[in-house]
Amino acid sequence: MPRMPQTTMVATAPLVDTHGRVHRDLRISLTDRCSLRCTYCMPEQGNEWLARSSILSTEEIVRIARVAAAAGISTFRLTGGEPLLRPDIVEVVRALAPLETPDGPVQIAMTTNGIRLPDFLPDLVEAGLSRVNISLDTLRRDRFHDLTRRDRLDDVLAGVAAAAASGLRPLKLNAVAMRGVNDDELCDLVEFAMAHDAQLRFIEQMPLDIGHTWDRTTMVTRDEILATLSERWELTPVPGRGGAPAERWQIDDGPHTVGVIASVTAPFCGDCDRLRLTADGQLRNCLFSRSEYDLMPVLRGGAAVAAGEAVSIGVRPLDTGIDARIDDVLRSCIRGKLPGHAINDPAFLQPVRGMNAIGG
Ligand code: SAM
Ligand code: SF4
Repeated sequence: MPRMPQTTMVATAPLVDTHGRVHRDLRISLTDRCSLRCTYCMPEQGNEWLARSSILSTEEIVRIARVAAAAGISTFRLTGGEPLLRPDIVEVVRALAPLETPDGPVQIAMTTNGIRLPDFLPDLVEAGLSRVNISLDTLRRDRFHDLTRRDRLDDVLAGVAAAAASGLRPLKLNAVAMRGVNDDELCDLVEFAMAHDAQLRFIEQMPLDIGHTWDRTTMVTRDEILATLSERWELTPVPGRGGAPAERWQIDDGPHTVGVIASVTAPFCGDCDRLRLTADGQLRNCLFSRSEYDLMPVLRGGAAVAAGEAVSIGVRPLDTGIDARIDDVLRSCIRGKLPGHAINDPAFLQPVRGMNAIGG
């Protein structure tokens, strides 16, 4: 078994891009595979999966995360594909949880379809998982089947119940709002979330499905979502959003809130503090970017990097050549970040990979 890198390393300069945004959040896709086939994410058949040999090992993930933490990345969100399909998911969490930023410990969060949560949650919590988001677009079994092409609603609901019973808070439920599919269930989903002490967050559907089926005219907008919810509840904006993707509203007098992630009609790029790492070792600076920054030659083409070589990256040199090269790739990725995505530009081209391979 290769030796795990140590959990702390010399602090490096923060990851500030050319537009002044400080990056603190790295989304790590652990696999492109999934137990569901949500229509807005993957085709029912004909997916081309990443080769198993190209998937990052736990040691490689931790090595990258350790370099990122030294540069101030304080939240690592595990996603996919379905992160709970990864056989060593508990080990991944256990290895990441002790990492330290210059300002303190990191937080490990996960976005999951929830199906395997009842089996894994106690071990994940014990290993150091801090938060979980579960995706749930409908409470109706027939719809769930149509939407995900799998009859697994009961398993997802069991996952939500397990998360609600755990101490992990805030618990968030994500729902993609779709016209003629679940837009008559928006209030039911919020009621369900409140009954489970969870925050419902509606996501505007984005052009990220492999089948390229997204259609602006059918997507349900932030304003439509708010209009529907306002017929039932009084919504009061919650201030202090920071870099969070969701705008939030307090429901009536509280304590519950509801969120909307309006990437299409109200982009929040100006406050974006996120980077992404795909399961095959590509860094991305935006969900919608068509560029990737390859870490594989650094991780697996080690011969080109002299062990112990020190590379200056701003404030202080890192201690090993490989870590310094990882840091260089991170900073190239940050430098290449554009001020915003171009979904609303007529010339916009969808990324080649689908959401399951990018890591949502
Ligand atoms: N399998 C896990 C899950 O579904 O939670 C994690 C990966 S999934 C890609 C992460 C999130 O992306 C989910 O909440 C999902 O609803 C959302 N998502 C996927 N495709 C989307 C799209 N085209 N537009 C908006 N959200 C999308
Ligand atoms: Fe799987 Fe998540 Fe994509 Fe649905 S959204 S197909 S659960 S990766």
